[in-house]
Amino acid sequence: VGEGGEITYKKIQSSQIMGSIQLGIQHAIGGLASKPERDLLMQDFMTVETTNFPHEGSNHTPAHHYSEFKFKTYAPIAFRYFRDLFGIQPDDFLMSMCSAPLRELSNPGASGSIFYLTNDDEFIIKTVQHKEGEFLQKLLPGYYLNLDQNPRTLLPKFFGLYCYQCNSKNVRLVAMNNLLPSSIKLHQKYDLKGSTYKRKANKSERQKTSPTYKDLDFMEHHTEGLFLEADTYNALIKTMQRDCRVLESFKIMDYSLLVGIHNLDEAQREKTEARKRTDSGQSDGDDAEGEPRKGLNRTRSEQGKEDFTAQVKRTQSINRQRLVAHSTAMESIQAESEPIDEEEDVPPGGIPARNARGERLLLFLGIIDILQSYRLRKKLEHTWKSMIHDGDTVSVHRPSFYAQRFLDFMAKTVFKKIPSSLKHSPSKRK
Ligand code: ATP
Ligand code: CA
Ligand code: CA
Repeated sequence: VGEGGEITYKKIQSSQIMGSIQLGIQHAIGGLASKPERDLLMQDFMTVETTNFPHEGSNHTPAHHYSEFKFKTYAPIAFRYFRDLFGIQPDDFLMSMCSAPLRELSNPGASGSIFYLTNDDEFIIKTVQHKEGEFLQKLLPGYYLNLDQNPRTLLPKFFGLYCYQCNSKNVRLVAMNNLLPSSIKLHQKYDLKGSTYKRKANKSERQKTSPTYKDLDFMEHHTEGLFLEADTYNALIKTMQRDCRVLESFKIMDYSLLVGIHNLDEAQREKTEARKRTDSGQSDGDDAEGEPRKGLNRTRSEQGKEDFTAQVKRTQSINRQRLVAHSTAMESIQAESEPIDEEEDVPPGGIPARNARGERLLLFLGIIDILQSYRLRKKLEHTWKSMIHDGDTVSVHRPSFYAQRFLDFMAKTVFKKIPSSLKHSPSKRK
């Protein structure tokens, strides 16, 4: 956060980054239309297109009131192919990215990355470090060989890599799929690695409206884990095994499983509570995340109107089909979703589960943060040397150790097969 409370990244105002990258992406997608579809060539992974955006505009760029900037698009043809692989039409991608302002998310990570969410909830744009961008470029051919063979995966899907350049500063950005719906309340969020070393959300994170907790917090909140139907459990673990094998093959470590939990029963209770409060004439204190607190001096009718519009918007966004194919949690693990039997407005594709109390949960999840192999490269260099010098072979196996520990934690501590006692518990309705 910079002076005056404005969020900045590399001393550039976030609002300027957002507006400029929307112009850049719009130009990049528009430019692709004239390039006919064709098979991918190896060189498509290496191309970089650079466009200048002067204030006054140019033959192919619009005038704008941001600082002048350059915009680089990496591997445009390759990323078009990947978007196509996930059923994303150019027009839809353009609409998602550019037709409405982006929303900035608060980042619990230590890296200082900024996250932007598209208004339709489909895509996340994350700032990445130079090394991470380079690594993604190198990873692309092999990574997408895997996704092409198996689009049902919890691995992150990358749909674009860009660089915004302004005043000799570089801001590198990746566009990827958003895992967590913002249209419903996630009662808990976890970033899980299978490690217990320092894996606890710090105080400032815990004070947020919707904190992202870590492994130790999870074990404290869910001592018995999260319960899944046997078929769902098997599909989930199988998918993660497959995904971890891919990550291990690229010597990637330090990734996390992001898990968002919507508790249907708690949501019901909250609804009833809110209704009670409104009936007794108290103002509705519901302070949804991301929404500024509403003014207190509003009349009731104004308040009512606003709530109704919000409701309509919410239902629209919920009933809309997801843009990215096979991208919900249920589709990613190739399991059939049983429709939720009540009149609940929840986005499709959450994985049904239960907590130890038998409450009905929906899980939204996926693997994130897979581009940090630069640290590993350092370690590997070190290892080669140490192998030659003192025969230390331990570190070479680190990615495999990481994957194994990750999978063990997920399969044994986080997710459990539903015991029959819970399955037939009275709280299961209908
Ligand atoms: P660090 O390197 O310090 O761990 P980072 O800046 O690289 O952090 P990530 O680990 O990628 O950031 O993500 C940080 C948080 O952002 C996650 O815990 C999650 O809350 C959110 N997030 C990241 N990727 C996604 C995604 N694809 N969909 C939804 N939320 C996401
Ligand atoms: Ca991380
Ligand atoms: Ca990271």
